[in-house]
Amino acid sequence: MKRVQSPSSINTYFQCPRRYYFIYNLKMRTSPSIHLVRGSITHKILEDFFKIDPSAIENNYRENMQIIVLDMLKKYWANSSSQLAMLNMKDEEIDAFYNETQMMLINWLNQFTNKIDDKIAQGSNFVESFNNFKPKTEIQYTDQELMVRGFIDAIEECDGEIRLMDYKTSKNAHISDEYRTQLAIYALLYEKRHGVRPHKVGIYFLKDTEHLLDVDDELIKHGQFMIEQIHACTDEIDHISDYPKKESGLCKWHSGQCDFYDHCFNGKKIPENSS
Ligand code: SF4
Repeated sequence: MKRVQSPSSINTYFQCPRRYYFIYNLKMRTSPSIHLVRGSITHKILEDFFKIDPSAIENNYRENMQIIVLDMLKKYWANSSSQLAMLNMKDEEIDAFYNETQMMLINWLNQFTNKIDDKIAQGSNFVESFNNFKPKTEIQYTDQELMVRGFIDAIEECDGEIRLMDYKTSKNAHISDEYRTQLAIYALLYEKRHGVRPHKVGIYFLKDTEHLLDVDDELIKHGQFMIEQIHACTDEIDHISDYPKKESGLCKWHSGQCDFYDHCFNGKKIPENSS
């Protein structure tokens, strides 16, 4: 079967084909993690933040935006309490993640506010500046010819420049090979749908700052190549032996291990109802 792929499935395959097989062919579940729960809360906040009416917060916009973002965090964190409870973490550990998330959002907001301040210094007012930087959020792109889909967190069109941006809460503020692949696929999907090449793609590292790549022929070709490779390696290919284990630091690390470690290395049987 030819499956619609995504940056996530493609990166999973190239990190470890066996892991891909467990997740995408056998549909075995992976464990929830604080990083996934926190990632989904921050994405929701950064999506909903841009739905506010800027004219209602024009006076004291710096303080007002901070109040709005922190209120959203409090609310969405509370809404996720059942998922957080399933993680079996101590309250102090959860609190530490909450505080860190608060710090990340304030860091992002400070940088956003600085851009607004610069625009105002050039003669705009707050509402115009906010709307200038307001992105389209969480847009799904699916290409039936490429058989690939992606969700772009933020599409920005500011001052004649189109930028496709993703939000990340990761520790390392660095565009890794996996992130580059994700961004290349977004650029390709955008160009195919709109007939216009975005100027830049990038990541808002919420603990750090934005990192950008120029969208050039090489990046677009990289996206095309990775999509061709995943289809060549997985379409109509269903046997476990075609998905070799790739031992790496992803198998086991000091505080945990891959969800499938026992299947790979300790003889645990694959559940019969998982396929
Ligand atoms: S334990 Fe290692 S080899 Fe096995 S699926 Fe996970 S990453 Fe791949």
